[in-house]
Amino acid sequence: MSVVEETPTARLGRRARRGAQILTSPTLLREQIEYLRHGPAPGTPPVEPTLRFPADPWHPLTESQWRSPAVCNICRWSGEAFDGARHVEFQLCPRCGSSARDRFLLWCFTTRTPRQPWLRVLETSPRMGAPYREAMGAWFTYAASDYDERAHRAMLRIDLQAIDLPDAAVDVLLTPHVLEHVPDTDAALEEILRVLAPGGRMYLQVPILQGFTAPPTEPEFHGDQTPVFWRFGFDLTERLRDHGFTATVLCTQPFSDAARRGDAAWSTDTAPEFDVASMLGGVVPEDLRVVLSQRRAERLGLWNAYQFLTFECVRHGRGLAGGAANAAGRLRAHLRGTFAP
Ligand SMILES: [Zn+2]
Repeated sequence: MSVVEETPTARLGRRARRGAQILTSPTLLREQIEYLRHGPAPGTPPVEPTLRFPADPWHPLTESQWRSPAVCNICRWSGEAFDGARHVEFQLCPRCGSSARDRFLLWCFTTRTPRQPWLRVLETSPRMGAPYREAMGAWFTYAASDYDERAHRAMLRIDLQAIDLPDAAVDVLLTPHVLEHVPDTDAALEEILRVLAPGGRMYLQVPILQGFTAPPTEPEFHGDQTPVFWRFGFDLTERLRDHGFTATVLCTQPFSDAARRGDAAWSTDTAPEFDVASMLGGVVPEDLRVVLSQRRAERLGLWNAYQFLTFECVRHGRGLAGGAANAAGRLRAHLRGTFAP
């Protein structure tokens, strides 16, 4: 049973795809025959019984969901409040465990990317675990780039500076809080451009704590002991453009308002790592695109607007809708269930 509420069409498509995979893979065919003869193998992991994701990630939240004080756009939970402090890394969904940052990333992706069949979505080191990855695998041809055999069949190990994927293999790259850990930013951006299909896009999140890019003044590590090489600022937008992307910074209404007025309406007592004055000194208001009103941002648990920024980077091309090569590549990846080489 899937964690995603399936539509009849999706179910038919999944079964057809699975059937094609079984018939073309001797190993799977053998397993299937074994299964039919003897039932499930001992040790088959039980499916999480309560967590369900919607059938369609593009389906908009309903007005009644928006009326709840808190609503999760990933699993569609709604209720009185999220768990934890009003911080980008908290406001955790009590059902799927998403943080405010996770919800903003998926919001940016699904509200800005045209709906297409079989999008190939690569996500570098997602924070969320197996049920989320399984849902992403049901919605898209999906791979997460860290290695965890329990989570998904299409796990990849990826160094952004030398991505082990063919050219134009990815339609959407989600990369939350990884680029600051990569020593050579330019090499990574070159590689990302190479693996994106024409019209493909990257939704890039890095901690923006200051206006301009600089290395950390003291050795800096994040929770899992990975070193931070760069603290990025808003000059990253120009750098993305230099590499050939059409780049904009997605934000919520109050941040755009503050960038234009030049004053901040936030107390940073609970998040002193953000230098809001420096951020507003470096931001280019014309580069910002508002993707959420203040009211809706707060319903999603995005409380302090300076903490919610996603770079949208589109590779020039005929758009995801255009291009027979794109469509053929997507279909091939969809049938194989992976776009790994
Ligand atoms: Zn949720």
